[in-house]
Amino acid sequence: MWSKRRTVDYSLQRRRTLEDLRGALRTLESRDALDADPMLIRAALHHGDLTERRCPAFDCGRLIELHYTFGDQLGQYSGRIKSIPELEEMESEYGEFTVYTVEVCIECGWNHIVESYVLGDSVVRKPPRKSPTVEDIYG
Ligand SMILES: [Zn+2]
Repeated sequence: MWSKRRTVDYSLQRRRTLEDLRGALRTLESRDALDADPMLIRAALHHGDLTERRCPAFDCGRLIELHYTFGDQLGQYSGRIKSIPELEEMESEYGEFTVYTVEVCIECGWNHIVESYVLGDSVVRKPPRKSPTVEDIYG
């Protein structure tokens, strides 16, 4: 992605979480140490990008990545999950927004933030006009 900048790498925190998990598992019988939000698993199944990386917790299978987008210029759409092709399109549609990449294992529920970064063409734009959503109409 050509406009990728201000990348924050979370591999240190990820390693610490994995060490804590292994510590916790010595005292546990099951995989209950991982308690993933069902919404996160559902999002991974429907909107995720399959990676080549394997689950670091229990080696269940390949990890899925979710890309959450946030920014003032996204207006009411801030917080949505986007695919890589969508992010590539958004780069030239918005001046600046932040992407948080989260990896998820749908088998055991392992999930962790991988990185965050900023995308956009740096052109200042107004947020899109708010259009009514189902929630606005039906409360
Ligand atoms: Zn797993």
